[in-house]
Amino acid sequence: MSQSHLPYRRPAELVEAGLIDAAALAAVEQAATAFPLLLPRQLAALIDPADPADPIARQFVPQAEEMEIRPEDRADPIGDQTYSPQAGIVHRYPDRVLLTPLLTCAAHCRFCFRRTRVGDTAAAMSPAEIDAALAYIAARPEVREVVITGGDPLMLGPRRIGLLLAALAGIAHLDVVRFHTRLPVVAPDRIDAAMVAALCPPPQAGFSVWLAVQINHARELAPATAQALARLTDTGLPLLAQTVLLKGVNDSAATLEALFRALVRQRVRPYYLHHPDLAPGTGHFRPSLAEGRALMRTLRGRLSGIALPTYVLDIPGGFGKVPVGPDYWDEDSLTVTDPSGRRHSRPQG
Ligand SMILES: *Cc1c(COP(=O)(O)O)cnc(C)c1O
Repeated sequence: MSQSHLPYRRPAELVEAGLIDAAALAAVEQAATAFPLLLPRQLAALIDPADPADPIARQFVPQAEEMEIRPEDRADPIGDQTYSPQAGIVHRYPDRVLLTPLLTCAAHCRFCFRRTRVGDTAAAMSPAEIDAALAYIAARPEVREVVITGGDPLMLGPRRIGLLLAALAGIAHLDVVRFHTRLPVVAPDRIDAAMVAALCPPPQAGFSVWLAVQINHARELAPATAQALARLTDTGLPLLAQTVLLKGVNDSAATLEALFRALVRQRVRPYYLHHPDLAPGTGHFRPSLAEGRALMRTLRGRLSGIALPTYVLDIPGGFGKVPVGPDYWDEDSLTVTDPSGRRHSRPQG
């Protein structure tokens, strides 16, 4: 039987497909033991095998550099475990909680900050754990927003998403339910009519549903992805984009500019540009904070405000996400720097 619809899971298949050289196979196999290869064929079809620096290949094809564990790398880079009061809940900010119904994805991003846990099918929450998580949220009126993440929560499929939203609709103090997903990019066909309908808030819900789509390069906005995003926005769901700043993928002003322009054209608001977390074996993806700040400064001079995300760092250890500049106002000299780098004095008051 033909397996041509199944995602690539074995590095040897990448050799057969002409996506890696046979000489690279041993290293790719080794990298894939730490975090398995998972690459849908439709996504792999976007890779230009003639381009050794292809931004899609770099995000999804295991690399020898992943075997390099740096002293600063950590298994739990943003302190998920520290702030998890019970299975499937991370509660770090008073007004919002993360809910992680499963830890599987349709594709494995090599830079994943949860790469030590993602892919574990046994980590899916049981119905009893889901009930306990809902009870946790229901008991805390200060929680106004539930961020459903994972893994990729859209892997739940329309039926279970519908059930989850119906259960959340019974909690009166929620303003927003937000899904964090990469499915529109890595498996756009799964954003079908049933999925779109399932994501709409049930009539009795007091909350709206937002989607935050993870996307790092304009090349990921292939026609199938653009259509998937349009199906979501046409229904009235507000869409945000989260981008990870990745060395060798999007660490240039021109690349980020093209991505952010394409997103706003597509009715998706760039929300965060994330500085990469200290996940083990991802050091080769990390630019310096100074490089990220310089890129943001350049973009501020070039791009519309609606196309500019906030550049954020999740402080290692679980201390929270904060903007990391660049700064324009200097308190000591009472000067403000314009987008082209010139300083101007502005009396306070
Ligand atoms: C990222 C994150 C959130 C959401 O943060 P926003 O700044 O609202 O996008 C919430 N809880 C935890 C634990 C997080 O890591």
